[in-house]
Amino acid sequence: MSYFARGVRTILWIDLLKGLGLTLRYMFRPKVTINYPFEKGPLSPRFRGEHALRRYPNGEERCIACKLCEAICPAQAITIEAEPRADGSRRTTRYDIDMLKCIYCGLCEEACPVDAIVEGPNFEYSTETREELLYDKQKLLANGDRWETEIAERLRVNAPYR
Ligand code: SF4
Ligand code: SF4
Repeated sequence: MSYFARGVRTILWIDLLKGLGLTLRYMFRPKVTINYPFEKGPLSPRFRGEHALRRYPNGEERCIACKLCEAICPAQAITIEAEPRADGSRRTTRYDIDMLKCIYCGLCEEACPVDAIVEGPNFEYSTETREELLYDKQKLLANGDRWETEIAERLRVNAPYR
């Protein structure tokens, strides 16, 4: 065997042993992968997921139909219609978000004076049709009811930075 061939063989052995060493080292370390969707990783309190409209503890809608979220939305994804109620309070009659337009910037949440519209922790809401991503008020309120505990905790943790 020539000197050149011997040299190449030695280098290949060294690389092989290095590779085996690396494999053995990582075999006994904690796994960095998780078995999604059965296991899920932690979410930042600033995570911006699926939108939700929140209520007060007495069930009343928080939204006062000021339309600041609609005005600030850079994607023009929000459509609001409103009218005064019999008691003089102002509430939305329509609150739609086109989730296909939304860029998840979080500006609607930042603009809202009463923490009504928020981006919740849910990121698992893929659909089979476009229509299912045109959210109306009922859908958004239902999201708020479903995720209120997580949303309230997220807002509490994030409050000092807002
Ligand atoms: S997250 Fe941004 S783009 Fe999406 S609805 Fe709110 S303001 Fe509009
Ligand atoms: S969700 Fe907030 S910002 Fe948007 S209309 Fe209602 S109160 Fe105003």
